[in-house]
Amino acid sequence: MTTSWNANLVAERATFVTHLECGLTGRRYEADRLHGLSEAGRPLLVRYDLAAASRELTRETLAQRPRDLWRWRELLPVRRTANIVSLGEAETPLVALDAMARRLDVADLLVKDEGRLPTGSFKARGLALAVSMAKELGVRKIAMPTNGNAGAALAAYGSRAGIETIVLCPEDTPEVNVREIAFQGARVYRVNGLIDECGAIVADGAAKGTWFDLSTLKEPYRIEGKKTMGLELAEQLGWQLPDVIFYPTGGGTGLIGMWKAFDELEALGFIGPERPRMVAVQAAGCAPIVKAFEDGVEHAARWENARTVAAGIRVPKAVGDFLILRAVRESGGFAIAVPDEEIVAATEAAARDGVLLCPEGGATLAACMRARSQGLIAPTDRVVLFNCATGLKYPMPDESRRLDRHAAIDPFAL
Ligand SMILES: *Cc1c(COP(=O)(O)O)cnc(C)c1O
Repeated sequence: MTTSWNANLVAERATFVTHLECGLTGRRYEADRLHGLSEAGRPLLVRYDLAAASRELTRETLAQRPRDLWRWRELLPVRRTANIVSLGEAETPLVALDAMARRLDVADLLVKDEGRLPTGSFKARGLALAVSMAKELGVRKIAMPTNGNAGAALAAYGSRAGIETIVLCPEDTPEVNVREIAFQGARVYRVNGLIDECGAIVADGAAKGTWFDLSTLKEPYRIEGKKTMGLELAEQLGWQLPDVIFYPTGGGTGLIGMWKAFDELEALGFIGPERPRMVAVQAAGCAPIVKAFEDGVEHAARWENARTVAAGIRVPKAVGDFLILRAVRESGGFAIAVPDEEIVAATEAAARDGVLLCPEGGATLAACMRARSQGLIAPTDRVVLFNCATGLKYPMPDESRRLDRHAAIDPFAL
């Protein structure tokens, strides 16, 4: 451990995992074993003894801990502190978009800026947990499909854990992602297909015993890392959840994770039964969840010819589709698609307010604008948007001008 300065990581804290459970059938699976999907081919969810956890974890003890992801240790699955693979997963700030809130006429508009995390995206939360658990369970080799940021996080955490990592991405994945994945020690392949087609290659290798498949929701622990967004949000807002959460939805891990987190917080007595309306935001060029929501069905059909500037949400088929749809419907929320032009315009509007969003974050703002104009959200609503990666990873237009230092320069004209 090189992180002995962090009191959250020094302390051997009790963990309270009791078992895992199929998200579709509820069938039980044993903890402390390596698991992929359930026999029904669906995601496994980690269950805890929350009554016992509530005796260790109180609001007061929490308040004294360093402000990072590991302060939630009693609600996380890693048993031994020595297995924790950490790069400093700091709590991310809520940044107010006040001018935009006034323009849209909503009570509050906050951006949870996940770009502050290691590797510049919230994939760090999921991969910190998934890789720590892989280490705990003795995995030596991991493969994963990615649209970019998940691969980058896997490369970083995998290298740190000394686990061999292989990453497959669509050939048009943002160049910075492809480079950072390789630079941080993974073998990265550009594949002439979309993320689910990369996933099929990974699944085939896993079935043949080559590597462990760390795809979104095909192993149980990424969601546990992502759920800390919900835990953190509740605490940051003084245990009062917002009215509406706009979440850029690809595989949906974060949305499903937060929905699970809120139930766990209620069981601990930290919050009541109130829940935010969960809004699944997708791009108009890849909106399988929106279509399934509108069609009133439980599973989403694959979206053909998926294309959007928001690479992180270009997921034509999500294995946790029914869990996303369930959370959205139970919460009284909705699913909404936004065209790329609106994503780009919203990103630009936020940048002019000093907040640099990634395209997926821009999609949540665009969706919020659309929802407000359609009366789907009200002037009294307190709204949280998720910006899932640093805007610095993505190309920006060149709006610079030239200046010749040898010519006469009139500073008043600049
Ligand atoms: C992965 C990713 C998403 C989608 O997250 P899910 O929880 O898998 O739906 C959104 N935005 C960015 C920037 C991402 O990297």
